[in-house]
Amino acid sequence: MKKADGDADVARRLLARLRDVMAGGGSVQERLDKVVRAIADSLRAEVCSCYVMRAGEVLELFATYGLRQTAVHNTRLRTGEGLVGEVAAHGRPVALADAWSHPSFAYRPETGEELYHSFMGVPIIRGSRVSGVLVVQNREERGYSQVEVETLETVTMVLAELLATAQVVSREELLPADGIALLPLRLEGIALSPGVGLGMAVLHEPQVRVGRLVAEDPEMELDRLRAALHSLRGQLDAMLAIDEMGGEFQDVLEAYRMFAEDAGWVNRISDAVHSGLTAEAAVQKVHDDTRVRMQQVSDPYIRERLHDLEDLANRLLTHLVGETGRPALRDMPEDAILVCRTLGPTELLDYDRTHIRGVILEEGSHTMHAVIVARAMNIPVVAQVKDVFSIVENWDPLIVDGDHGQVFIRPSEDVRDTFEQSLQARKRKLAQYAAVRDLPACSKDGVNVSLMLNAGLLIDLPHLHDTGAAGIGLYRTELPFMARPSLPDVGAQIALYGRILDQANGKPVVFRTLDVGSDKVLPYWHGQPEDNPAMGWRSIRITLDRPAILRHQLRALIASATGRDLRIMFPMVAEVDELVAAKRILALELNRCERRGEPLPDMVKVGTMLEVPALLWQLPALLREVDFISIGSNDLMQFLFATDRGNPRMSERYDTLSPAMLKVLRDLARACDAAQVPVSVCGEMAGRPLEALALIALGFRSLSMSASGIGPVKTMLRSADVAGVRAYLDPMLDQPRHSLRNALRSFACDHGIALG
Ligand code: PEP
Ligand code: MG
Repeated sequence: MKKADGDADVARRLLARLRDVMAGGGSVQERLDKVVRAIADSLRAEVCSCYVMRAGEVLELFATYGLRQTAVHNTRLRTGEGLVGEVAAHGRPVALADAWSHPSFAYRPETGEELYHSFMGVPIIRGSRVSGVLVVQNREERGYSQVEVETLETVTMVLAELLATAQVVSREELLPADGIALLPLRLEGIALSPGVGLGMAVLHEPQVRVGRLVAEDPEMELDRLRAALHSLRGQLDAMLAIDEMGGEFQDVLEAYRMFAEDAGWVNRISDAVHSGLTAEAAVQKVHDDTRVRMQQVSDPYIRERLHDLEDLANRLLTHLVGETGRPALRDMPEDAILVCRTLGPTELLDYDRTHIRGVILEEGSHTMHAVIVARAMNIPVVAQVKDVFSIVENWDPLIVDGDHGQVFIRPSEDVRDTFEQSLQARKRKLAQYAAVRDLPACSKDGVNVSLMLNAGLLIDLPHLHDTGAAGIGLYRTELPFMARPSLPDVGAQIALYGRILDQANGKPVVFRTLDVGSDKVLPYWHGQPEDNPAMGWRSIRITLDRPAILRHQLRALIASATGRDLRIMFPMVAEVDELVAAKRILALELNRCERRGEPLPDMVKVGTMLEVPALLWQLPALLREVDFISIGSNDLMQFLFATDRGNPRMSERYDTLSPAMLKVLRDLARACDAAQVPVSVCGEMAGRPLEALALIALGFRSLSMSASGIGPVKTMLRSADVAGVRAYLDPMLDQPRHSLRNALRSFACDHGIALG
């Protein structure tokens, strides 16, 4: 018999023994005592101990074979303390021939462990939590093999189940102290998809219950696994064939489909089956291990792929067990708010969309796939809400405020009424904005302003039609790059840009070249960590240093716009030379196209973002080089005031409506006007009615904003007399004030200007 077969035999026999122990009678304590004895026996260890996690991250010795019985329920270690604590803290096994010399070793005299030198501990994992630690020890300095570690890990699955079903530690004990009360509660998170949703909680329990853990016949289990993988892949292919959500969604699914093909993943599951688990228990085990290990990874991309893996594992379990943990439609509330630890990209689509009013996540970030999907479906999302899954119960009334990143649990009637009213008011407002869609964007005194859309995903494009925007003033090309598993090649980019131009249907589109770095991280691009990424190697600095990327992007833009107009804009330009260098690359690509006899765009216009203050002192030279300028007020404000735009503590500190910022903007508008270079503002301020009012009064005639800003800004403009606002604002720009916001707001109110 080969050694591997022998090892697998040990695991299988042990599992069979444990199954008998579990099936036999007796108290939990008695069964635990038998379990540790059986493990020690099978693994030729003198000691086997089981530590269980109690409230406050304390690990208590619950059962032992080999250590002193008087230590049971008395010996306790904090997570992170000693070797046992270390196993729990990292969710990773530790195997040492000489435990005593390890720096983390913490000697507990009451246990009598001074006799034992070697140590092997593995975490007991259930769901995403470490619920205890299983340890074996030997007198001799024994090196434990990888197979022994894996056998112990397999056994912990059975133990985890025993601990959970017997509730040796009650769920309440493990809840945070303030989470038990059934009082209304307000929790904070981050807003990832805007809007407000009211409804009842549906706990998203992807966990399919794995009933059978120990296999009778491993070959049969492997067959079941193969069959389930086959039907899983078929199901994913069918999903990929539906082109309902636009290109990015396909990318998300393709990335996800790649996981299903991952040989490492499938092999780990097969190995677990070989060690005696059923196919479903093996999927669960591999997944639990991966989850706990990946949670230690700080790379946000890798962490996010965890959600994909989670989704995949659950889907595979469904194929094996034939049921989902999801409530049937009839059990879903009419207005449902999904409460999730994590959510896979396809899981959201398993629910009936017409019922989902919001999503709350314990994890998540802007680039998480499920969030991209939720945004596409206009579902408000609040993420990073700590412990929400343990605090909320099914059918709890909830409010998700996706505009401010807050969640109300069991809200009082007053809070509910307030949100109900604002939801109704929002609906009325939306109807009003829809009514001005086809009316001119013109002020009472005849000032026309071009209101454009900021976009970045194909799903944004229908807004061009819904809002009646004049075109796309800023297309952030990096967003589709972020949603993909790898850098898109020229062909894929041509297809994408072509679709955008098709959908714009003749309206102008300004494509901004790749603006990555800072907060926009490409998953497949691992740059060096930087102290100040916003001021670091980002945007045009990267694409000038890696000109092939820029050349490919420009080549794709040119090819996608043959026979049409092409507008290209370069981001984060800090000196005219950078713009000149970028234009040179563009010229190379245009020449290449010409040389090859390929058709060209009808017209190519080149502009720059103005978002680095240094450019303000290079205006004459800059204006000679560009066909248009777009002011990125988000970054301009950040650099002008040295205030991190992503830091919530700074968000209210300085104001875009400060005389300093407004004067910079006014002088820019004047300089561009004098040079007859069209200028627009495309930062967030352009989409807020009061700020837009100031910008128009300062002389801007083109503003680009997100879709939700167009209705309110147009309504404001149509109610304003621009000359009057300018006359009021101008003299105040020289006053040393923190902000002109209140003054301008009062003026607007006094003069009937609709601020929304
Ligand atoms: C800006 O900086 O104002 C801008 C529009 O660009 P982004 O927000 O993409 O940095
Ligand atoms: Mg910017």
